[in-house]
Amino acid sequence: MENHDRLFTLYPYFDAVIESAKGCVLRDCEGKEYLDLASGQLSVLLGHSHPAVVKAAAEQAGKIVHLGNRFFGAAVLEACEQIGSITPEGMDKVILCSTGSEANEMAVRIARAATGNHELVGVSKGYYGCTHEMLSLSDYVGFIKGLGTRAAGLHRFPAPDCLHCPLGLAHPECNLRCVSMGEDALEKESTGAIAAFLVEPVMGSGGIVVPPDEFFTRIRALADKYGALLIADEAQTGLGRTGKWWGMEHSGVVPDIIVASKGLGNGFPVAAVITTGKIEQKCLQAPLANMSSHSFDPFGAAIAIAVIKTIRDEGLLALAEETGAYLLDSLTQLAKGRTILDRARGRGMMVGVDVVSRDGSGQPDPMLSLALEAECLRRGAVLGYSALSGVMRLLPPLLMTRTEIDRALQILDEGAAYVEENGVDISRYMPSQNSSAMLAISFLRKLQ
Ligand code: PMP
Repeated sequence: MENHDRLFTLYPYFDAVIESAKGCVLRDCEGKEYLDLASGQLSVLLGHSHPAVVKAAAEQAGKIVHLGNRFFGAAVLEACEQIGSITPEGMDKVILCSTGSEANEMAVRIARAATGNHELVGVSKGYYGCTHEMLSLSDYVGFIKGLGTRAAGLHRFPAPDCLHCPLGLAHPECNLRCVSMGEDALEKESTGAIAAFLVEPVMGSGGIVVPPDEFFTRIRALADKYGALLIADEAQTGLGRTGKWWGMEHSGVVPDIIVASKGLGNGFPVAAVITTGKIEQKCLQAPLANMSSHSFDPFGAAIAIAVIKTIRDEGLLALAEETGAYLLDSLTQLAKGRTILDRARGRGMMVGVDVVSRDGSGQPDPMLSLALEAECLRRGAVLGYSALSGVMRLLPPLLMTRTEIDRALQILDEGAAYVEENGVDISRYMPSQNSSAMLAISFLRKLQ
């Protein structure tokens, strides 16, 4: 049962094998339980096996799962209607597909068709997916290293990471100098034929970077100047994660395309590309098709309907805001008592904290954050992902209770105390003998 020999894994998995999950709790084959503050891969917004999702999936599985590219399913029409009802006015043209990477690829193809331009602009510390072009645009250290030749015509704008400003400036006095530098670099390096700017409303994989609202206003203006589209990649921020339907709503800036994935299927791969009728019309004149085997599958559509209705009917936007404030406040208090935790921040149920060196220098320490992740796991909490950024990201299901949060943070505190005291003991984090699964820490060594 727990033999990993057949697995080809290039990513660090922990040894525990999970058999089932309910709400915010995972249960492994030995009956051990783990609080899941990572929502799977930041996806299970309503918690695992939410009854409304289970019911919708079971009913739809009995009707039709997959249809192909000749007909639309009834569930698809309703899902698109539901999605159109929660997007900014006029953004009601929807394509359904499977994953965030696929949806971003589609969004980019739409932008190229609608503008006639080719180049793309991402943000440093951004992550847009694992297809070749999206990975080329991303800035995610471990994954980029093995990429080989990058796709051409891509630019990276400096991340507006005010908490770690590389220029040593403070917002708002800085007047977003980083953006001015990005503008100058584009002026020099771009041919001017920019199809799209891709932004995450809160940068997730880059370490919970919450850009100032003005960042989005400036990028909106820049996109307009170049005749490019603004694509909001809401993979992590969409569907209420930040306390609003869309993370972009906090800034008041309306994008041209919204990409939703992860939470839309509550863990099932269904994604959406949402845009305006005007952009759709431009694409209809262009040689562009969106056929793929799983475009508009009724099964994913039925799940998306259940997710949206549950968020609306159960008032989960307000809940995410309230519980998120509690989570951030508790994390901030906890960090005050720990040398290795610093700068808690976030929006709604999307928070993060820097894991910094034990020497008090405040420098982010990716090794230590991985050790902390492993220590929390041993103690029964999947705290989140620190990946290689040295930032512990916590994106629990919106329905996580305060009692569960208290318990998880207690585990974080105990794990932090252990790591603070003992540092990183590599041998403690190597894979077990009968397992080929790697612990994150051995993975990081591989990349160094
Ligand atoms: N965009 C963002 C912001 C993401 O966080 C992710 C996944 N982590 C993706 C795109 C890619 O989504 P997927 O893994 O579903 O292809």
